[in-house]
Amino acid sequence: TPVVGVLALQGDVREHSIALAEADALARPVRRPEELAEVDALVIPGGESTTMAKLAAAFDLLVPLRERVAGGMPVYGSCAGMIMLADRLLDGRPDQQTIGGLDVTVRRNAFGRQVDSFEAELDFAELDGGPVRAVFIRAPWVESVGESVEVLATVASGPAEGRAVAVRQGNLLATSFHPELTGDHRVHRMFVEMVRARLGQPAAR
Ligand code: GLN
Repeated sequence: TPVVGVLALQGDVREHSIALAEADALARPVRRPEELAEVDALVIPGGESTTMAKLAAAFDLLVPLRERVAGGMPVYGSCAGMIMLADRLLDGRPDQQTIGGLDVTVRRNAFGRQVDSFEAELDFAELDGGPVRAVFIRAPWVESVGESVEVLATVASGPAEGRAVAVRQGNLLATSFHPELTGDHRVHRMFVEMVRARLGQPAAR
């Protein structure tokens, strides 16, 4: 069974841990470099990316996180976690650091105050079973992607129509929204399958 850490500095750690358990992974909180060294993969939860980045630096995790990403560890970032994985940020704090690794430009708080939080149905590439109900909370979107990045879902209608909100590049997966809040664990299952593939384990189903 894959051991998947949840970066537990700040944010909705508990909800991701539950979703991972329901997707047949062993979830472990990660706060220290020693804990990071023991996991097969990592989820970076939603929360507040500037705070998370400061805590990651203060806990001496930023460099080890970059090393694990460079070494091919699968990482799934949701919302603030997507921001943490981005190589480039728009509307970040002037000194805001990220882990990076994902060749995308992400715009923080992209949907603006009028639609701070909302839900939408998304067609999500490679997920069977119909559209994903996506919860967006002061969410970022992906403004542009590098060549090796696949866009898995875009906003279907409204002022943000066509904006990318789920992407994958190699072992990195990121969503603007929060699948850990809806009880639909298909995105977590997809990630756990990425982890199994990385470990050379057969798919669950
Ligand atoms: N707006 C937050 C940030 O900039 C992200 C919001 C979230 O994770 N729900 O980090």
